[in-house]
Amino acid sequence: MKTAVEQLQQVLRDRVLEQEADAFLVTSPQNRLYLTGFPSSAGGVLVTRDASYFLTDFRYFEAAQRQVTSCQVVLMTRLSDNFWELVQRHKLKHVLVENAGLNLADARNYREMFALLGAQTVETNTLDRLLRGLRAVKTPQELKKIKAAQSITDAAFSHILTILRPGMTEREIALEIEFFMRKSGAQGVAFDLIVVSGANGSLCHGVPSEKKIAPGDLVTMDIGALLDGYHSDMTRTVGMGSLSEEQSRVYHTVLSAQLAAIEAAKPGAVCSQVDKAARDLIDKDYPGTFGHSTGHGVGVEIHEWPNFAPSCEEVLRPGMVITVEPGIYLPGKFGVRIEDMIFITETGCENLTESTKELLLL
Ligand code: ZN
Ligand code: ZN
Repeated sequence: MKTAVEQLQQVLRDRVLEQEADAFLVTSPQNRLYLTGFPSSAGGVLVTRDASYFLTDFRYFEAAQRQVTSCQVVLMTRLSDNFWELVQRHKLKHVLVENAGLNLADARNYREMFALLGAQTVETNTLDRLLRGLRAVKTPQELKKIKAAQSITDAAFSHILTILRPGMTEREIALEIEFFMRKSGAQGVAFDLIVVSGANGSLCHGVPSEKKIAPGDLVTMDIGALLDGYHSDMTRTVGMGSLSEEQSRVYHTVLSAQLAAIEAAKPGAVCSQVDKAARDLIDKDYPGTFGHSTGHGVGVEIHEWPNFAPSCEEVLRPGMVITVEPGIYLPGKFGVRIEDMIFITETGCENLTESTKELLLL
């Protein structure tokens, strides 16, 4: 399998873009990380038809030289000097920049700098879309990192089950999960962990509060670890002691919807169809209670392309990693969400999440 940088070079060589382009300049942190495998807070990746460079400053230079294999590492001194050299060497005329990575001031600086060097920056969404498409399909190495991040997440969930009890606050639970993840080797959490219980459970992106877990509560934990620059994402809802018939019915409706979406997720399926598989099931019994998308891609960002959303017409391809996370939220009462990460295979999908989805009563 070609690396992402090699695929970008192929695009330049094939001249398949609408715009004239003899190089790509990537500056957003997430896409720099994606192309180099190296996290950094500054720099850029320049890809030409036959070469690629990672420009980074003194703070990262030595480590980058050791770790980055996809690009030649260049010590960034004065940016205009660095680019002067590269523009001359590759006779660059049109440099396609990444729109999402540049604010207006940077875009103007690059435009003026390249103009002085006799080249032009091309500002369109083309490169952004190209990278989004490449990133959606994971390489085996990327998959390995996502799986490792998910293993920590599964282990953190098993751990919290052993200590979760009435009287603990939502914040304590979130903190305990984060502490466990970091002790297990995670570089951090994939996002601010969500732990909501009882009536707070209807706030699907609620912030863990000082509320104490009470008997009869449903507790929703949306958790994920960050490892080697890659994210994981999982949600489980568990019951404290005995639950009402309604709570248990809602749980099983969400679970059926989640399983229906996973069943529908295979190569060739359209993302909106997968969303519909879950949504129809929930709307039948609980209309208006499921107000977010069924899932999102995961990789160097926690939310990336594509989405299991009613408006997403992307077709699933082997290699994509996407969450499946329907929920039902009853304001003032409770909420349930169940989320797995799945990997699209040649024939269907593989579930990357190992934690049980049986309704656990603690
Ligand atoms: Zn989540
Ligand atoms: Zn998610």
